[in-house]
Amino acid sequence: MSRALAILAIPVLAAGGAARRVGPAIEVVVHRNGVPRHSALRRLPFAAITLGHVIVALGGRELAALRAHEHIHVRQYEALGVLFFPAYAMASLVALVHGRCPYAGNAFEVQACRQSGNASGPDA
Ligand SMILES: [Zn+2]
Repeated sequence: MSRALAILAIPVLAAGGAARRVGPAIEVVVHRNGVPRHSALRRLPFAAITLGHVIVALGGRELAALRAHEHIHVRQYEALGVLFFPAYAMASLVALVHGRCPYAGNAFEVQACRQSGNASGPDA
């Protein structure tokens, strides 16, 4: 699956983004020199997202701030394989049922924040 996701990085690279392998992950930066002020990407609810072994960050600064957090998601994915995706969705449902934010209260996000020392919250 990660190989297929890595192929999805090709349009980002063609548009001037960057990618490099860091440990088991491929880090993709959409805008190497920062996200333009009027970019529609600024409306996304996250600054970086991890899909399997592929970390996609909107900008280099965002990647630097969230790298440790996103690499924990890579390790979570490695531990569970493709089951990570339904497990992540289930953790969001559990958070919601318990009255917590389905994103910030998701056990995988809580673990990533705690282990990365990112107290500001997940992926933002
Ligand atoms: Zn996260």
